[in-house]
Amino acid sequence: MSPASLDRPLTLALSKGRIFDETMPLLAAAGIQVTENPETSRKLILPTSSPNLQLIIVRATDVPTYVQYGAADFGIAGKDVLVEHAAEHPGGLYQPIDLNIARCRLCVAVREGFDYEAAVHQGSRLRIATKYVKAAREHFARKGVYVDIIKLYGSMELAPLVGLADAIVDLVSTGGTLRANNLVAVEDIVEISSRLIVNQASLKTRADALQPLIDAFAQASANP
Ligand code: ATP
Ligand code: MG
Repeated sequence: MSPASLDRPLTLALSKGRIFDETMPLLAAAGIQVTENPETSRKLILPTSSPNLQLIIVRATDVPTYVQYGAADFGIAGKDVLVEHAAEHPGGLYQPIDLNIARCRLCVAVREGFDYEAAVHQGSRLRIATKYVKAAREHFARKGVYVDIIKLYGSMELAPLVGLADAIVDLVSTGGTLRANNLVAVEDIVEISSRLIVNQASLKTRADALQPLIDAFAQASANP
């Protein structure tokens, strides 16, 4: 896929919220500041203190798409998002670097009092609500558990409470949201952190500008 034109600054795709917040120290380590706050600004293209770098603010799930098509030279996305993206676009992205930010885990969670182990042991068919269809399908296939997957786009915690599903597959960090909804995590599927992904053509044609930033991010994330 072609990189965007060479006469514009390098473009880094980010989602707002925790990924944006946790990326700021990595940019700072590369000597770059961002003055606008995406939570209050309506701008979707944010300048930085470097004339050679701008940020674009997109939905977390859209970051790999912008990078794959070269509309962003690089981007930062959770492993959760990258796993789902790869299922639909195999081979599309350059080997990601683990930045060790926005850490959490992908878990199976159920309503308090639901005996998950017994249901699995009995070979019951389980209804699973999740945004992470690919990761969930693979997890239960590995376990040999039959599941019906119901795709949701948010507020997964609600599904077991209203009888839409027996269990959810969702991201958990402190467990506060689960507890607030009387849910408990019963299984960890995978550790999640955010990764730096790079457009393959950009890496070749814009290496002079791009490589120092990639190196600075990798360095800063290895030595927080
Ligand atoms: P929205 O919340 O706007 O619907 P989203 O759920 O895609 O969008 P976020 O909730 O900001 O976006 O999550 C973005 C990324 O942050 C996720 O893909 C994941 O990698 C990471 N993340 C999500 N939840 C947590 C969490 N509880 N702890 C740490 N990181 C998380
Ligand atoms: Mg969210």
